[in-house]
Amino acid sequence: MEIRVQPVAPDKRRPKPKDESKLIFGRVFSDHMFMMDFRAGAWQDARVVPYQILGLDPAAMVLHYGQGIFEGLKGYRWPNGKIHLFRPEKNFERFKRSALRMCMPPVDVDFQFRAVEALLKIDRDWVPHSLGSSLYIRPTMIASEPHLGVRPAGEYLYYIITGPVAAYYAEGFNPVKIYVSDEYVRAVRGGVGEAKTMANYASSLYAAEMAKKKGFTQVLWLDGIERRFIEEVGTMNIFFRIKDELVTPPLTGSILPGVTRDSVIELARHWGITVTERPISIDEVIDAVKSGNMKEIFGTGTAAVISPVGEISFKDKNHTVGNGGVGEWSHRLYDEIVGIQYGEKEDPFGWIYPV
Ligand code: PMP
Repeated sequence: MEIRVQPVAPDKRRPKPKDESKLIFGRVFSDHMFMMDFRAGAWQDARVVPYQILGLDPAAMVLHYGQGIFEGLKGYRWPNGKIHLFRPEKNFERFKRSALRMCMPPVDVDFQFRAVEALLKIDRDWVPHSLGSSLYIRPTMIASEPHLGVRPAGEYLYYIITGPVAAYYAEGFNPVKIYVSDEYVRAVRGGVGEAKTMANYASSLYAAEMAKKKGFTQVLWLDGIERRFIEEVGTMNIFFRIKDELVTPPLTGSILPGVTRDSVIELARHWGITVTERPISIDEVIDAVKSGNMKEIFGTGTAAVISPVGEISFKDKNHTVGNGGVGEWSHRLYDEIVGIQYGEKEDPFGWIYPV
């Protein structure tokens, strides 16, 4: 399919951020967006157009039944000016899986590459320059058919918006305080937890607000059945360094299969570290924290890459992890992955994709 390009009029260009370090995540968007419609059983009218408000019928099914999915990846500007993506095929494949889980029409992985490339070609000046900053890329699909009544929609809108974002750790590598929710759960096995669908984020809000009110940054989610096994932390996957082994919960359907999670597993194994994907209970975690066997806990995700956990609160008791600071492995993994993303380190895994 052809991708038609309609550039923004010069006088309609959006103002570029003056100070890249002050960018607030998700507030500034680039000049163009990619759009395409699914109608009469096929994707059609692929186009790059000026960033614009969507014309959506108030009966559009996504607004009622939540049939919507998205992705999140970043474009990094290297010191030589070239733009690179990090394992984009992983995001595109996950988008396809999310679509199938939500009864939505999949978009070819190859076509997603073409769409992102077409958009970055016209908006490459929007990829910020300062170290650690990047262009956040948000592919999205929503059910646009106007219809009330629960069933998969017959019409969809696929679009991609992008926007410059500042370095996540502008003020240094900060350990976070996390709150274990043993009342509310994010997802259940057999549900939609492994799909990047809107409902998962809506259902996480209440517990996240409660944790914030208590002074914590993130919720540590437990499994939806026994409320005993660890799942994720906030919108990140989670890793535990117990003595000299890395442990992370297995992908059993309720957890989002993170691209960063996969990269940490591969990298740590490459370094000779034992990585075990197994169920790990909150009791085991707290016991290991108390005994000192828990050397580090960290979250992984596209936004922060590695987010060290300094403190964990369970049943109204606070526990300091290690010395409460940033662990050695957290640091090493962060430096290596960020180094690969910005072209400062070798990429032995072929993770980098130039655009
Ligand atoms: N879990 C959830 C619920 C998330 O939203 C994300 C962010 N996409 C992650 C984990 C981390 O995934 P990734 O490493 O692909 O960003």
